[in-house]
Amino acid sequence: MTTSQQLFEKAKELIPGGVNSPVRAFRAVGGSPLFIKSAKGPYIYDEDGRSYIELINSWGPMILGHAFEPVEQAVRDAIQHSFSFGAPTRKEVEMAELIISMVPSVEKVRMVNSGTEATMAAIRVARGFTGRDKIIKFEGCYHGHGDSFLIAAGSGAMTMGVPDSPGVTKATAADTLTAPYNDLAAVEVLLENNHNQVAALILEPVVGNMGCVLPEPGFLEGIRSLCDKHGVVLIFDEVMTGFRLARGGAQERFGITPDLTTMGKIIGGGMPVGAYGGRRDIMDMVSPAGPVYQAGTLSGNPIAMSAGLAMLRHLNDNPGVYSRLEEIGTKLHTGFSNSLAKLGLPFTINQIGSMFTLFMTERSVSNFADAKTCDLPLFGRYFHAMLERGVYLAPSQFESLFVSVALTDELIDQVIQANEESLTVALT
Ligand code: PLP
Repeated sequence: MTTSQQLFEKAKELIPGGVNSPVRAFRAVGGSPLFIKSAKGPYIYDEDGRSYIELINSWGPMILGHAFEPVEQAVRDAIQHSFSFGAPTRKEVEMAELIISMVPSVEKVRMVNSGTEATMAAIRVARGFTGRDKIIKFEGCYHGHGDSFLIAAGSGAMTMGVPDSPGVTKATAADTLTAPYNDLAAVEVLLENNHNQVAALILEPVVGNMGCVLPEPGFLEGIRSLCDKHGVVLIFDEVMTGFRLARGGAQERFGITPDLTTMGKIIGGGMPVGAYGGRRDIMDMVSPAGPVYQAGTLSGNPIAMSAGLAMLRHLNDNPGVYSRLEEIGTKLHTGFSNSLAKLGLPFTINQIGSMFTLFMTERSVSNFADAKTCDLPLFGRYFHAMLERGVYLAPSQFESLFVSVALTDELIDQVIQANEESLTVALT
């Protein structure tokens, strides 16, 4: 037994399923998870001393590679002043100012501790602002594990086969309406059938949680104008896309302005941080400025703010990061496409910047129904073949890869080679 296997056996006795977040358990691909000891730059190291090229990067946050020196230094400096005060700090002001300068639609922002908290708060504020109860989300989009979002949810919920979780009350579920992604007509029907009842529409402007799925041309524009027509608060969930698809996220890249934006992952530099922000008139509904209650003992934590600030400052000051991420994404896309052609495989690749999914289906994938046509046992074999070749992928077909700038051209070539070999192995 490897050390990882021993730890997993023990963990299963102590922690539900042996993990603190479901997808980590490798259920969708079989086998037992690697227990990670450390990571540096483009590599992650397990408890058995093996190294892997990182294509998960903590599910997004480590966009500059692991243990990025300026972030490490900022945390070291911050720790000297204690860990938490539960009182306002200078760093929170600096953080708010930086986020507002980077993300086009954000005029005011509130810090929280995770993406889940951000989305839960954002819909509460939208409900308080509009006086309406219902929300619209898209099938296969994941917005964290708040009750209202565990309806046709993607990511881990889909991977674990529980897109609708027990424990969510019927009354809560009834207030969440769902539509297929990229289907404007379906959204229009929902809005007309629920006239003056929909508070918010929330979506991932580029989806990462059913694998990577792009908005079709005109989709985001159409959503914006439907929300305007029906007085619905448009929420872009940029927990994955924020500070990744551009300095100002997907809203900058596509030139669409949401009313509220939820953020997470990169914003904390690897520490537990989330945020929500947007139009001043809506954000002024939040307590203590307004009546919508939302709070947090550790919100704006000084260590987390220091890590996040160092990360965002680097991204803000170095536009070269984004051109390099585009280059890496394109190189991987081209390399994988060439291998598919060589092996005569009709599979689909969706890629935008540093987000990327190889879907094991011949259907083009523009919504959840398309994604579900993938050959999942084949993906499982492919995943393990990649692991054997030292490439650490998300252990599920319904996830995006998250590339970091630490990936050198040489490592990209290794990934492309491993992909070709792993496809061959998985097919035999
Ligand atoms: N929203 C999106 C788009 C996400 O991808 C995630 C997590 O993957 C969340 C929200 C929830 O964030 P967290 O896991 O930090 O609660």
